[in-house]
Amino acid sequence: MSPTDFSLSLRDVTPASFAERQVRLLLLDLTAIHPFISGNKWFKLKYNLAAYQAAGKSCPFLSFGGAWSNHIHALAYAGYQAGIPTIGVIRGERPAQVSAMLQDAESWGMQLEFVSRAEYRQKDSAAFIDSLRARLGEFEYLPEGGSNALAVKGCTEIAGSLSALDDVDFLCCACGTGATLAGLIAAAPVPTQVLGVPALKGADFLYDDIRGLLKQAGYADNGRWRLILDAHEGGYGKISPRLADCIERFKIHSGVQLEPLYTGKLLLALENMLAGGEFTAGSRVVMVHTGGLQGLRGMEERLAEQLKRFCDTEKQRQETE
Ligand SMILES: *Cc1c(COP(=O)(O)O)cnc(C)c1O
Repeated sequence: MSPTDFSLSLRDVTPASFAERQVRLLLLDLTAIHPFISGNKWFKLKYNLAAYQAAGKSCPFLSFGGAWSNHIHALAYAGYQAGIPTIGVIRGERPAQVSAMLQDAESWGMQLEFVSRAEYRQKDSAAFIDSLRARLGEFEYLPEGGSNALAVKGCTEIAGSLSALDDVDFLCCACGTGATLAGLIAAAPVPTQVLGVPALKGADFLYDDIRGLLKQAGYADNGRWRLILDAHEGGYGKISPRLADCIERFKIHSGVQLEPLYTGKLLLALENMLAGGEFTAGSRVVMVHTGGLQGLRGMEERLAEQLKRFCDTEKQRQETE
């Protein structure tokens, strides 16, 4: 069940714009830990699967996600590999052809249950979960994104891979539910500051959610963290031209592929902070690559379109100058 042996190490990916201000950008790359359960999702599932196995359970794992959910994809594969049945409750009607991500999930034996958007909104309500139990039988419940106390515990191991010797000033990560960030907050060595970049618009509710997750998981809130709320580029799933450009530039510069839902927004936020003078000379900034590359299949065309738009606008701007 465990992913192939991996060791996490920092890679210097400092772009010229950062170097000019004597700020170093280092990458903590979680994409290499497993070919399918890529990135943070492995850390989130790890202790949930272990607890289930230790309890000798056999009912399916049930969780929630959209058609392109990295969590559903990871859960399906983890279940397949461990011989644990899985059920994915998916937002929206079943389309004629399901997404490439859900095709994978089905091929790994996950049972997909499509529910209306209105029903999906009740995903955290006890009454709705009971109604699912009445319909589908007993299951092991995992909230959307797999984000619970055991997920936070697993994510502490991401930050735990950094030693005090690494001397990190800022440890930065993209947020959906914030469980991964909670793990980083709990485990970041003093005096590292932890920064979270929500993929969603209007995500200030995450402050409460993250405090709640820390508490549930039994970690103190050390207060050395904050959220960058204005880097969502229009909201979840929105790809702006400059986001497409940011991803492309980074790929050319470092060879590292980011994706536009989470990790691209993270880098864009860090670039904005750099430009705003928020990193002093000598700072070491670590960005966590949380993965999500399996989902790129659904976005390549839109990314290419937005990149072209960015280049066209740049060309026009230069011509009028
Ligand atoms: C799921 C996901 C996140 C968000 O993780 P949370 O723990 O929900 O905040 C970030 N990046 C990628 C690539 C993801 O797939």
